Formats: sequence, C-alpha cells, structure tokens
Amino acid sequence: MSELRGVGIGLGVAHGPVVRMTEALPAPESTPSTLGADAERERVREAVSVVARELTERGEAAGGSAQEVLEAQAMIAEDPTLQDEVDARIDAGSTAEWAVHDAFAGFRATLEAVGGYLGERAADLDDIAQRVLARLRGVDAPGVPDPGHPFVLVARDLAPADTALLNLDQVLALITVDGGPTSHTAILAREKGIVAVVGVADGFTLTNGETVIVDASAGVVTTDPTDDDTQRAAERAAARRSADTAPKSPGVLADGTPIALLANLGKPSDAPDAVERGAEGVGLFRTEFLFLSSSQAPTVAQQREAYRELLEAFPGKKVVVRVLDAGADKPLAFLNDAHEENPALGLRGLRALRASEDILREQLTALAEADAATAADLWVMAPMVATVEETVYFTALAREYGLKTAGVMVEVPASALLADRVLAHADFASIGTNDLTQYTMAADRMLGSVAGFQNPWHPAVLRLVREVGSAGASLGKPVGICGEAAADPLLAVVLVGLGATSLSMAPSALSDVRQTISRYTLEQARSLAEIALAADDAAGARDAVAEAAAALPPQKKETTS
Ligand code: PEP
Ligand code: MG
Repeated sequence: MSELRGVGIGLGVAHGPVVRMTEALPAPESTPSTLGADAERERVREAVSVVARELTERGEAAGGSAQEVLEAQAMIAEDPTLQDEVDARIDAGSTAEWAVHDAFAGFRATLEAVGGYLGERAADLDDIAQRVLARLRGVDAPGVPDPGHPFVLVARDLAPADTALLNLDQVLALITVDGGPTSHTAILAREKGIVAVVGVADGFTLTNGETVIVDASAGVVTTDPTDDDTQRAAERAAARRSADTAPKSPGVLADGTPIALLANLGKPSDAPDAVERGAEGVGLFRTEFLFLSSSQAPTVAQQREAYRELLEAFPGKKVVVRVLDAGADKPLAFLNDAHEENPALGLRGLRALRASEDILREQLTALAEADAATAADLWVMAPMVATVEETVYFTALAREYGLKTAGVMVEVPASALLADRVLAHADFASIGTNDLTQYTMAADRMLGSVAGFQNPWHPAVLRLVREVGSAGASLGKPVGICGEAAADPLLAVVLVGLGATSLSMAPSALSDVRQTISRYTLEQARSLAEIALAADDAAGARDAVAEAAAALPPQKKETTS
C-alpha cells in the first residue's frame, strides 16, 4: 500500500480500477495535398461544423457552467479568423490535417502571447484541434475512455468538454496530475459532485487496472489497498450518499448558531437545483455571466426578466445580486474593451461600471423593477470595491433606486483593512476569497505557474477575513463569504470562526459544508481559526486545523464518517 497526495475537491471517497486517459493523436505530416484545395476546404468545413455541433450538444446535455465553457469552445472552433488561417494553408497546397494542426498551433501561440483570459483559452485550442483532426481521420477523438465498466479516471488534466460529459455511472473518481483547486477541472468537478483529487504529481505512476481508493477529504490516493481499507471506503461512500438524500436543514453549528448556507449562481435556470440541494437563498448571483458574449449592453427589459426569474425561485429568501463584474478574466465587450497590460489591476468591477454609469443605472433600474414584482429579499452588492468613497458612491446610488439593502464585496486587501469604515456605510460585506487571495498573494488566479500561491488557507488572507469579521460583529452587520473557500468544508468552519455569518458556494458543496459545520460550536470554530492564523503558510494552517479538529470531542452524532 502507498499513498499519492494532491488537492481533494469536496469530501467524497470512491474506489475502483484505474483507467488512464486516451493519449493525444500524433501530429500530421506536412505533405502536399493530393485532393486539391476545394476538396480539402470542404473536409475542414464539415469536420469543424460537426465538432462545433458536438460541443454545443455536450454543453446542452451538461448544463451549468459546463455549458458556457463548451459553447465558448464551439465558437472558437468556428472562429472566422481561424478559418481564414486554415484556408490560407490549404490554398498554399497543404492537406486539411496539416492546415488545421498548423493554424491552430499558430493561433494558440498568439493567444498565449496576449496572456490573461485569452491566454487561458489557449489550452482549449489543443482540445478543439484534436477533435477536428480525429474527425478528419475518421477516428475517435482522444478523451475519456469507455472500458465498459466503472473506473477511476487518471489524466494529466481534463478538457472542459471531457469533464462536462463524464458519465457519472462509469467514472467513479477523477485523478489529475495537473491543476489546482481553482482550475476549470476542479470547478466543474465540484459542480457535478465528482470525487476528485487534482494536482497529484505522481499520478502517472498509476497503471491501468490497478485498484485505488480516492479520498478527496484527505487529498490522498491509496494504491494497493487492503480489503479492510476498501470496505471502510465503501461504507463512507454509502454514508455520504445517504447524507445527500437526508433532509436539507438550514445551516447550523453544533451549539445552535445559525450560519445561512447560500448558493453561488450564474444564471436563473440554475436556481431549482440550488433549492433542491437546500440553499437558503443566493449569496452571489454573477450577473456578468448572463452577458459574456453580448457585444452590446443588455436592455433594462432583458435584465428585468432574468432577475425576475431568479427572484421568483426564492420567495421570502435572501438573494444577493452582484452588479456586473467585468474585466480581467471576464471582459464584457460593452464595458471594457480597451487593452490593459495588467487587467486584474485595471478598470474592472465597480471601476468599469463607474466609467459607464448609464449601464450601472440601467442595471439598478432592472433590479428595482424585478424586486418590486417578486417576493424575494433582494440585496445588491458591488464587486472590486477598494475604497470607502466607492462604498459611499455605490450604496447611495443603489438606495436612489429604492434598493433597500446595499453592500460591497471585499476582494481587495485595502477594503478588508478598512472594513470598519467600509461597513459604516454598507449594509453588509461579502468576501470574495478568490480575488482577495489573488491580490493578497500577488498571484494571478488564472496563471498555472503561480497556482501554489492561490490558497485561501494562507494566514495572510485569513487575517484580512478576520478584519472584516470583527468589523461586522462590532457594527452588527452581516459578513458573508462567497469565494470558492466557502466550499471547502473545514475552511468553512475556520471562516465562521473568523466572523463569517453566512457561506455561499456552488450548490453541490452545500451538503458537505452543512454536515461539517454542524460538528463544531462557535467557540470551537474560533479556536480553530486561531490555530490557522498562527501558522506560517497555507499548508501549515490546513494541517494544524485538520489535526486539532480531529482531536476535538464530537459535538453531534455524525451521519457519515
Ligand atoms: C471572488 O473573487 O471570490 C468572487 C466570488 O468573485 P469571482 O470569483 O466572480 O471573481
Ligand atoms: Mg471576484
């Protein structure tokens, strides 16, 4: 028996035989075409349109954020600039295969050179090129194998198209060699509730057919397990399944302290799933996700309908809607199209909205109209607020439109450090730990090379959370968490100990977080938070808290192990 370590996503556990991802197709040879340019062009058109259609269909089947990712991929496949590049090579005498391979590689290099959000999309191009090549060659696209029995999938990383369509009856668990907790694979795995350990550096030592236990809660893959280990893993998996179907009670600590468990949503149609999973409301509705592909600002009527549909799903419940957060990894053509060297530090979030105040005013109008027509408790908040002055600006504007609860996101260290003054004006704060970690650690959240810094367990990030929690407590104002950190069950306990009064997360994380926080009293959560704050780094904080938590006497009968 040996153990491989990585980053676990969620609390799941599973065991089964390993099947490794099918390898990529070899690159084509640069031989001249014998078919002629017209025929080669036609072959490419047919292959590209089939691939784009398949990606769109996969997206429709998957729903959620997978759909957005796959639709974006389908659009890249059919991008006219890319088509022109392919045609130019064919006109110069290339085969369809070589033209696709070479043009996609050139496009990839261009995107990488641009960097930022577009640079991140570069890897997606490889997946699309492979699919088009497979179609041209009449072979299966490389990707998830289908061995005809349930298996544990081992891959370097998964393309979004693969993660989205994983057959959950067959794929028992996922192990990736690359990727961190905020990678695409991790986000989609969390959303689909797949047992996953990512960033397992030694993952490729695993061979087809060997049995492993994948324990996401410990971030460990056990090879060659004993019968006892396997039995225990099976029992834990069964217990989790029954916890998943258990009644979805509101979030509460072991001493009865309520901690509302809310959902992060990107579109209104995701609301019913969140309700079914017991979300007590919405802690973050990312409005920009509705308009990522729009070239023009949405109309008031268009927006009002979307917000109305969302609010109608939560009568009497709190729904926190964030005004457009455009910029950096989420540019909106109608808000920020200027090139910036450093877009994460540029005109993004509230800064971009202020520069186009008419768009902000229209959004607030639409929100106020949807609020008047529905029975939810609407709260609005602004992203990327860095100063007290911005807080005053946004909250005053929101109130001008009759929106009664107006707050700010704390994602920039400056606003965390002045949280007492920010909260003197805002009705609430919601901490976006993804950006707060990025800005505290000076590590681009989109960049794999600095992913090791992107860890919200870092005591520097936790100190900032404490600043906001303390300010909220002394002013009697709610402090929510809506970054990915809230979906990590043990970190969620620490965040509560630092003063968070609600936690908002991908709906699939709700049951794990609900169950974990119910095991600790507020006093225990505070003492675990002190332990995390006393560590030197993120790994030290997590390990020390895990050890201290395991040593605490049980506060409540556990429903799963
Ligand atoms: C965050 O930064 O933590 C957050 C919730 O906002 P987003 O991930 O949309 O930037
Ligand atoms: Mg953010």
